Amino acid sequence: MRQSHKKYVSQFQMMGTVIAITLFDPQLALIEASYDYLQRMDQVFSMNRPDSELMAINQQAGVRPVKVSATAFELIHDALQYSQRHADSFNVLIGPLVKLWRIGFGGEQVPAETEIQRRLKLMDLSQVALDASAQTVYLKQAGMQLDLGAIAKGYFADKLVAQLRAAGVASAIVNLGGNVKLLGENPLTVDGRWEVGIQAPQAIRGIPLLQVQMPARTIVTSGIFERYFKVGNHMYHHILDPQTGYPVRNQVDQVTIITAQSELAEVLATVCYFKGPQAGATLIAQTPQTEAVFVDHQQHVIVTSGLQPRRKGVYSIE
Ligand code: ADP
Ligand code: MG
Repeated sequence: MRQSHKKYVSQFQMMGTVIAITLFDPQLALIEASYDYLQRMDQVFSMNRPDSELMAINQQAGVRPVKVSATAFELIHDALQYSQRHADSFNVLIGPLVKLWRIGFGGEQVPAETEIQRRLKLMDLSQVALDASAQTVYLKQAGMQLDLGAIAKGYFADKLVAQLRAAGVASAIVNLGGNVKLLGENPLTVDGRWEVGIQAPQAIRGIPLLQVQMPARTIVTSGIFERYFKVGNHMYHHILDPQTGYPVRNQVDQVTIITAQSELAEVLATVCYFKGPQAGATLIAQTPQTEAVFVDHQQHVIVTSGLQPRRKGVYSIE
């Protein structure tokens, strides 16, 4: 294979995070196209822009169906299917609860129980109507809100990598603020494999807890140290339980999913966060070509069976 010794990393801030695209040839036009694509997606799906399609759907909840773009329809359709499949943990209608808790947006406090109960009633999946021929989305009850925060970046990563591949790019790294997707073979290694570091949530940035060698895959992490607030010793974080309305309480610090499709990885990261290492590993074993790394509150690392230990702190996926 071709062995290059250079890489070109382009970084920009968007979607409330740092995006980094790594190419191994200087192709500025592709960086610009990627930037433009992500900016378009931000316009369609932003929760902060009053003119986004997502906001239009949420604002018309209980009023009328909203005609959306094919992209919006596709992502919402996927998110609803995953919500039905993993109803106890993943729910795309979590918007009213996310807005109530405001975790990571400053001035947080634990909401009133009655208000939590009221919002839980707005998360009934049967109250969403998708019309594929009219390409409309309708939230039937006033106050319902879609929140694609736990899936959208995965969908964008899949699309962006597909676009780069279609443009003739052989190798790339797309990093959407911690959601990483690899394309092709690593031109900087002899065997073309990649090595990805998984950061310890409670440790210093830059020193990975473990490394994983792998072919081109996506690596997606969900953890509780991204956004949280504390009351005394109790930590309230941004992964909310759609059954109770409160942040999930368990022993897990973070879950990393390694698989082919980034959208799936996003969903599994959240679902496996709920399940923990035992039940999580069972789900992962049923999902082809998928592995997971769990880190618990004591910084113990638990990996699924396809991650072979190579040496201390280094695992390999064939
Ligand atoms: P991030 O990558 O921003 O850390 P995650 O992928 O872990 O986020 O998803 C967390 C976000 O997903 C939350 O900020 C919220 O918008 C939404 N969310 C929280 N809990 C759930 C849930 N149980 N199901 C679906 N979405 C959720
Ligand atoms: Mg996620």
